[in-house]
Amino acid sequence: METKNLTNKIELYEEEIMASKKCPRCGIIANGEEEIEEKFGYRNMGDGREEPIIPQSHCRKCRKEEIELQKIKNKNF
Ligand SMILES: [Zn+2]
Repeated sequence: METKNLTNKIELYEEEIMASKKCPRCGIIANGEEEIEEKFGYRNMGDGREEPIIPQSHCRKCRKEEIELQKIKNKNF
């Protein structure tokens, strides 16, 4: 029980500082803006507006895998 509570606290803390990102698909963790950019990349709004930078929800590897899966799906259907 105590160990479980401790884990939850750490996860909440990580969410609070917003400087680390975990991929919900493969569980890879990037710490700090540089690693987030390297492993996840940021969304490019591409319209010249000064939006706050939003990290991708999935890491680059998973997004690539998803694109490949979509290609296979599109071929089959
Ligand atoms: Zn991933």
